[in-house]
Amino acid sequence: MTNDVFASLEETARAEDARDPLRDVRGQFHIPQHSGGSEQIYLCGNSLGLQPKATAAYVNEVLEDWQQYGVEGHFKAKHAWLPYHEYLTGQTARLVGAKPEEVVAMNSLTVNLHLLMVSFYRPTAARHKILIEKKAFPSDRYAVESQLRYHGYDPAEALVLLEPDDGALISDAAIEDAFERHGEEIALVLIGGVQYYSGQLFDMKRIAELGHSHGCTVGFDLAHAAGNVPLHLHDWDVDFAAWCSYKYLNAGPGSTAGIFVHERHAGRTDIPRFAGWWGHDKETRFQMGTEFVPIPTAESWQLSNPPILPLAALRASLDIFDAHGMEALRTKSEKLTGFLLEALDAACSQYCTVFTPREPARRGCQLSIKVHENGKAVFDALIERGVICDWREPDIIRIAPVPLYNTFQDAFNFVRIFHELLRT
Ligand SMILES: *Cc1c(COP(=O)(O)O)cnc(C)c1O
Repeated sequence: MTNDVFASLEETARAEDARDPLRDVRGQFHIPQHSGGSEQIYLCGNSLGLQPKATAAYVNEVLEDWQQYGVEGHFKAKHAWLPYHEYLTGQTARLVGAKPEEVVAMNSLTVNLHLLMVSFYRPTAARHKILIEKKAFPSDRYAVESQLRYHGYDPAEALVLLEPDDGALISDAAIEDAFERHGEEIALVLIGGVQYYSGQLFDMKRIAELGHSHGCTVGFDLAHAAGNVPLHLHDWDVDFAAWCSYKYLNAGPGSTAGIFVHERHAGRTDIPRFAGWWGHDKETRFQMGTEFVPIPTAESWQLSNPPILPLAALRASLDIFDAHGMEALRTKSEKLTGFLLEALDAACSQYCTVFTPREPARRGCQLSIKVHENGKAVFDALIERGVICDWREPDIIRIAPVPLYNTFQDAFNFVRIFHELLRT
């Protein structure tokens, strides 16, 4: 009986791969090898995306220009370093649905969350609370609590936690309820666009609307959303957002992060902003004056001249996103994750529970699976078999089939091996 199920699933996987318009894109990535020499079943793009084959050339270009030009590379490099971050602006804006003036690549994610909170967490006695998911990524929780303390508030009083009410998921009703009850005390909303643990995709437009109707500033951490789901930050009227580039954006470990600041805030001079020379007006930056004149765009949040090597790696990756577009990637992603879910339902449902929302509109590509028994042993055995996925104590396995480089065959192979390990 199970053999029939697998035969039919594998046939579907083959047919889907054959008709996948993005099937050749995988060839543009280095797929890590398993010890036996076969390719890994790599389902960990939510943690560290794979390396585009083009990345080495983009990075080497910078190394070679540095060899040849030394400091003059700032002007003479094939892609001059002085404006290097600007080469990323168009792609980044298209990726997150922003105007070019609203985005910049800079720093790393948690650093950027702090810099943005300096500007957008403006507490008053009556309105000083911050709304965040109860199971927020730890760094976000630490960042938010330290901001509260920095302003003299006690997180025990000033943090409003969005509680999951449906297993690990946060319902629309719970979000509305949080605003009903605390809306007039909340200064800042800061939640993940896609929840890292459950894979739940939030309705960011609706949350921005709700937050604004209660007078709150609304920001999103898009670590698990950028490069995973289509975003329309400008049209959704989000105040600010930040994301990292090493997960779905494939820019390499610790690579340069990005921010969005809505245009209605980007040029403001009436909000505080930690300043550095790279945020200063470009025309007069090198006059080395004493008065800070902010660039009237998101670029004014930059502090330092950016590290060019990781920006080069990010550019290599964003060029691939730009060549295909988030809409096409999302179309494949919904099918691929849908197939994976269907296969898990058919073969493994007696051993585990997928708690990511089942409706495509409420999730990205990731599925979070609660394993009923011996989860850690099953996970270790998966790694042993060349299946790379992610473990969260005490019993959660997260898998993320990525439309750029994963195949329906990968999804099938995962389920076949997972089933074999679960039943023994
Ligand atoms: C991955 C991730 C981070 C990591 O922060 P870094 O500053 O890049 O180390 C933070 N927040 C969320 C929600 C994440 O998913």
